[in-house]
Amino acid sequence: MRAGGVVLAVVAVRAAVRAGTLVPWPVCAVPECNQRYVQAHHVSYAEDMWLEVVWLCRRCHTELHAEHRRSLQTPASRRRERRIWHRRRKALQSEDTFMANCMIS
Ligand SMILES: [Zn+2]
Ligand SMILES: [Zn+2]
Repeated sequence: MRAGGVVLAVVAVRAAVRAGTLVPWPVCAVPECNQRYVQAHHVSYAEDMWLEVVWLCRRCHTELHAEHRRSLQTPASRRRERRIWHRRRKALQSEDTFMANCMIS
């Protein structure tokens, strides 16, 4: 993965949040966490995925990346990601426009 893609993906999210087309979630996407102050986590840095983000608190975000570095394919990390995605779909269906005080990475 080119580093430039990562930077552009972060810039795209920041611009979309400022423009109001991308709304940060009020709480962390990990169901048992519910921390406020979320960060955007990119599912992929491919150009058509720049705005495909899940919102995680700093701790869960760091943990997810650490898990990815260790091994993407452990059953536990796959289960955790499935739960995050399930919650993401539910959030996308809701009309909640609460603006979180977000930091983006
Ligand atoms: Zn991330
Ligand atoms: Zn969290």
